[in-house]
Amino acid sequence: MASEILMIQISYFVAATLFIIGLKRMSSPVTAQGGIIWAGVGMLIATVISLATPNMGNYMLMMVAIFIGSLAAWVTGKKVAMTDMPQMIALYNGMGGGSAAAIAALALLAHINPNAGSEIHGGAVGLPLAILGALIGSVAFTGSLVAFAKLQGLLKKSVIYPGQQWLNLILFIATVLLGLSFIFQDYQMETLLLFFALALVFGILMTLPIGGADMPVVISLYNALTGLAVGFEGFVLGNAAMMIAGTVVGSAGTLLTQLMAKAMNRSLANVLFSGFGATATAGSEEDDVQGSLKPIDANDAAIMMAYAEKVIVVPGYGMAVAQAQHKIWELCRLLQKRDVTVKFAIHPVAGRMPGHMNVLLAEAGVPYDIIFDLDEINNEFSTADVTLVIGANDVVNPVARTNPDSPIYGMPILDADKSKNVIVIKRGKGAGFSGIENYLFYADNTRMLYGDGQKMAGELVASLKEL
Ligand code: NDP
Repeated sequence: MASEILMIQISYFVAATLFIIGLKRMSSPVTAQGGIIWAGVGMLIATVISLATPNMGNYMLMMVAIFIGSLAAWVTGKKVAMTDMPQMIALYNGMGGGSAAAIAALALLAHINPNAGSEIHGGAVGLPLAILGALIGSVAFTGSLVAFAKLQGLLKKSVIYPGQQWLNLILFIATVLLGLSFIFQDYQMETLLLFFALALVFGILMTLPIGGADMPVVISLYNALTGLAVGFEGFVLGNAAMMIAGTVVGSAGTLLTQLMAKAMNRSLANVLFSGFGATATAGSEEDDVQGSLKPIDANDAAIMMAYAEKVIVVPGYGMAVAQAQHKIWELCRLLQKRDVTVKFAIHPVAGRMPGHMNVLLAEAGVPYDIIFDLDEINNEFSTADVTLVIGANDVVNPVARTNPDSPIYGMPILDADKSKNVIVIKRGKGAGFSGIENYLFYADNTRMLYGDGQKMAGELVASLKEL
């Protein structure tokens, strides 16, 4: 028995080490694919070893659950479009939070009735951690489901009403008090149910008012919370792999949340409580726009770039939709052959998930040394002869610098407007994610190349080849 337990602990340690190595490798696009595999092997080891834990039962039920879960993940993972990835992450993350809450529910059930549920490990801190994990996991579960519904377009409007933040605060305090009272009193099943119901409702009500443009930050926050909840429940179960993996996910998620909030120049409190982005008004902004939209054809645009010394490419969500990255890279290679310096400028929230553009460019084979982050390249726009904006909108909207009433005011943007000429590829007058008008498109130095991203990049390539 003792050697069995030692084997299990060693296996958990190996699994946790693999998670950490995997995560480290995911920090660079060059090693990220391998990182997923390392972490995946760690997860497999942790799962298989958990089945060998002493006093484990219900194998049939577990097998059925693992089969259904794996099948659903396999099918949806294969089918999901790159542009739908954020909502998929929200959904899977929600499942993690829900699972942590379910583990906590069993532990708390055992606290009420020692004949039911699983025993609480972790000594004196076991019970408080079970309660904390239950609260955080439940909030992350329902909050992530609302985030999924918003990004999937199932929930189109942000729900805002008077006294909302007060109601949320009261609900939160009531849930915490109910949770705390478990530590000091023996409780009944009804109280446990009420505690979970309040926590689940709080997750929904807290997420409903948050605007669509803030969803990436919120998803990242729930990801961090899920990690924490899993870590806490790891203590409760005495499962080292869960403790370490949960802590790693919790801290990585917290760092990512901070980075994303910083990329939007917002505090986390502002993201969570301001209803920002929920009230974007396209019309009123549009009325103020000076200038006109000036179209250009592919041939003239190709000539402009062919005779430039430096071209900066700014990709955005539309490039992902059009899957234009391969054609764009072909275009860039033709320019490089003509001795044009080509650089890519990536905004931290371009596209629909962190690193979205880096992944697409890596897939197309763009070398990493010509891809630059906002901080690295923003000073260079004034030296660029042409900036080619493909499917990007909010991330190059100068209104973020100039109009305090704009919902994206304060978000650092790529200074594409400062380059000598700007060519924008997009299909028409479609707004960006935040739903507001873009002043860059009306500027004197901007020309609009209307059409689908891939088609237009193809036309640019054809025109360049003929020059
Ligand atoms: P935007 O969503 O602001 O704009 C995309 C533009 O692409 C649209 O104006 C659209 O115009 C154009 N477009 C759409 N389809 C095509 C196509 N097939 N060919 C050519 N153009 C196309 O993108 P950005 O990348 O600039 O900004 C990202 C936004 O998303 C930010 O507001 C960010 O906060 C938010 N966000 C970011 C996340 C992240 O983590 N990266 C996650 C979730 C949201 P048209 O219809 O006229 O073609």
